Amino acid sequence: MLRQGPLRQPIQDCAAWSGLKGREQGHVRRAVADFDGSEPGPAPEAVHGGPAAAIRAVLAVVAVIAITVAPLIGLGLWGVRAVDAAATRTERILIERTIGDRLARSVQTQESVTLRDEAAERTRARDMAWIEDNLSVWMYEFYGTDAVILLDEHNVPFHAMRDGSIVDAAGVDMSELRAFADATRAALAGPARPAAVFVQGLTRVSGLPAVVTVRPIAMESDGAPLPAAAHYLHVQVNVIGEAFLAKLSARSLVRNLRLVEPQASQAGERIDLVSRNGAPLGTLVWDAARPGSALLAKIAPGLTVTLMLLGGFAGAMMWRLIRSIRDLAASETRTRHLAFHDVLTGLPNRAMFERRLQRALLECKLEDGRMALHLIDLDRFKNVNDTLGHQAGDALIRQVAARLGRLVRDTDTVARLGGDEFAIIQPGVKGAEDARRLAERILVAIRAPFALGADEAFVDSSIGTVVSPDFGVDGVDLMRKADIALYGAKAAGKGRQCVFEAAQDEVVRRKRRIETDLRDQLAGEAGFELAFQPVFAIDGTRITGAEALVRWTHPELGALSPIEFIPVAEERGLGPALGAWVMRAACEAARALDLSQISVNVSPTQFRDPGFVDMVLDLLMDLEMSPQRLQIEITEGLLTNASDPVARALTKLRFAGISVALDDFGTGASSLTYLHRFRVDRIKIHQSFVSNLGARESTDAIVRAMIDLARALDLAVTAEGVETEAQWRALAGMGAPEVQGYHFGRPLAREAFAALLAAPAGGRAVSG
Ligand code: C2E
Ligand code: CA
Repeated sequence: MLRQGPLRQPIQDCAAWSGLKGREQGHVRRAVADFDGSEPGPAPEAVHGGPAAAIRAVLAVVAVIAITVAPLIGLGLWGVRAVDAAATRTERILIERTIGDRLARSVQTQESVTLRDEAAERTRARDMAWIEDNLSVWMYEFYGTDAVILLDEHNVPFHAMRDGSIVDAAGVDMSELRAFADATRAALAGPARPAAVFVQGLTRVSGLPAVVTVRPIAMESDGAPLPAAAHYLHVQVNVIGEAFLAKLSARSLVRNLRLVEPQASQAGERIDLVSRNGAPLGTLVWDAARPGSALLAKIAPGLTVTLMLLGGFAGAMMWRLIRSIRDLAASETRTRHLAFHDVLTGLPNRAMFERRLQRALLECKLEDGRMALHLIDLDRFKNVNDTLGHQAGDALIRQVAARLGRLVRDTDTVARLGGDEFAIIQPGVKGAEDARRLAERILVAIRAPFALGADEAFVDSSIGTVVSPDFGVDGVDLMRKADIALYGAKAAGKGRQCVFEAAQDEVVRRKRRIETDLRDQLAGEAGFELAFQPVFAIDGTRITGAEALVRWTHPELGALSPIEFIPVAEERGLGPALGAWVMRAACEAARALDLSQISVNVSPTQFRDPGFVDMVLDLLMDLEMSPQRLQIEITEGLLTNASDPVARALTKLRFAGISVALDDFGTGASSLTYLHRFRVDRIKIHQSFVSNLGARESTDAIVRAMIDLARALDLAVTAEGVETEAQWRALAGMGAPEVQGYHFGRPLAREAFAALLAAPAGGRAVSG
């Protein structure tokens, strides 16, 4: 005999559990979507970028300041230098002009004394007194001439005055002056009038540079022209000495004008003095006024203060800028931390966990090692939340996180995936045993009481573990397998751990195969068939209807039980499509076979599909079939937590005339409550009661009570799974109106069922 529980619930058993709840599939799907293989540490900028960005910003500001201020400073300095250079040029011109004027004046004064008939006559007459008064001492007194020498026609000095005194003419050193005298006589030999002839130039006299001017003492009237060689010459010497420089300095307004030896290194501006033949005689040096620099020096303190203030202001601005950049970087780091960490516990969150998992898998591969993935689910956590409040729940989660943290090594990752789910990545395990040991330690640690304020709470945990690469190297696949192991642990009674094994793997593989093939099946709408199990009146001969049961013969896996493939179809969202196919096939058969009533099983997910009721009503219209001939079988599972839409759909179906049977009646926790709340037309007594009839007295009493209850509520009753004559008789004795079971007829293929319908009622053999 086949043991059957409430068949539309997933079967849970550590080894054989094959269902993945939608919620857990969500984990897996998200894992695929989120993974990019990188470790989400703080952004590079957040660690190094803060200061780096700050430095960049500061450099930018400095550059802006430099670009705007540097040209200003450059322009200012250029202006200062230009002003200085212009002033120096002016000084030089002034000095040169003053010297030029001085020379020109000495030419004029000499002309005024020498170009006279009397002068020519008196010199020839060697009237020394007159010469003194008019040509030499007089010139010293009136014009400051330093020295005067008179030369005869042979260039022999016959009168000499120096600094206002007559000196011995024979002692005059002619070495420097001869060239001037010769040049003068050469000019006199030329076409120029003697009165227009003079020679002037610089030379060294008694060791000092001096301006020498030579002129013939000529007749004013030019009455009796003399041959060039016959002229007497007047030599005037003006030494460039202290007195000359003092006057020059006063006239040109330059400071500290002085004469230095040629090539002497002296700071300041300079004018070189050279003799007629180009020999250096000395250098005039003075301190240039440099008004630009002077102005700069004057305003420098003020300017410095201003610049310092500006610099301080810019510095303060920059400091603020740096601080804001740092703050920004810090807040970015915080945001990133939040994005990858759980706020409540500070543990890595799912996003971080997925990346760590990928990294651990990669390392595992590179090092040829092993790692374990543990999924931890708290049992009874909801109780803590419900009874002690959310704050206590939060505190408990934090304590769990801390306990887990203490159990693992530094290289392990503890993450909170959400709610009361945690995960641990345990790299470097030798095998399943290592992983199991950690899981056991976790179980023990979580079992210890939690102090939550004045209260103490006890929770348990269930752990699913998978070892890689033994059972996969893909993160998504491993999560799925750890999930399978976790639900295996829960199914085995909570407070346990379960390590994923190959057997479970086989279940998963098979399930996956069914998944893909189901989709193909439904796309082609072929491959499914319906079996029809007759429902008999209690007399066992009259067929009152039939239950349609879906069948699928898989090309490789063989005949599959609906218990196996229907939950898969529902998980993958194929429930409505499969349900629609069954509904149509069942109704068409009912019409074709002229069956009074066809009963169709509808699972909760099919029923909750918003289009379900319309699909059924449209189908009946389409087939022109009376709704009274259709019965749908629902389970208590649908009515548990039934929402308004479910209640409305039920009412609508019943209002249309379709009857509703409550399948597996008696197996749910509070069947009677539902009967009270939701109106149905029939109850189907579950075969577990029927099979125990006659064996246990209490069962007999319960079944009798169910039948009486149905009668009292005016509900139809079918007893399911009648396998023996004894059961039949017992039911008949209790007044059960209709029966269904192998004793009367197994589910039959359509043709066989048609044949059964066609057979005369009396001839219907009761099969055992
Ligand atoms: P169920 O609704 O309780 O259907 C009755 C199940 O009990 C059928 O198994 C049937 O073959 C079996 N059965 C009938 N009489 C006896 C008996 O005397 N003894 C024993 N041991 N078993 C008996 P089946 O066809 O394998 O269907 C299993 C379950 O699959 C059904 O349980 C139903 O929940 C589900 N199912 C089947 N077809 C469909 C369908 O088209 N749609 C939906 N949603 N569920 C279906
Ligand atoms: Ca049923």
